[in-house]
Amino acid sequence: MKKKSRSLRCPSCRSLVLREDPHFPFCSERCRTIDLGKWASGGYVISTPITDPEELMDAEAAQRQQQSQTGAASNPDAATAPHDKSRR
Ligand SMILES: [Zn+2]
Repeated sequence: MKKKSRSLRCPSCRSLVLREDPHFPFCSERCRTIDLGKWASGGYVISTPITDPEELMDAEAAQRQQQSQTGAASNPDAATAPHDKSRR
């Protein structure tokens, strides 16, 4: 009686994985994590369907501009307190 053991290729590193493997269909825990990471980043792209790469760059630039603006606004002018001298 011949037992046919099916095997698949690991989606991450393409190495052969047996069905008995605890990490099936991945060859190892590491490859499973890698694949999950791919899906996570893929989901992000799907949620923001920007097909034009230039548009994407514009969005990134706008985000950076906003960040620098808030950074300048949070810069406290009160740090250089001119009234402290007259107080003495
Ligand atoms: Zn693998």
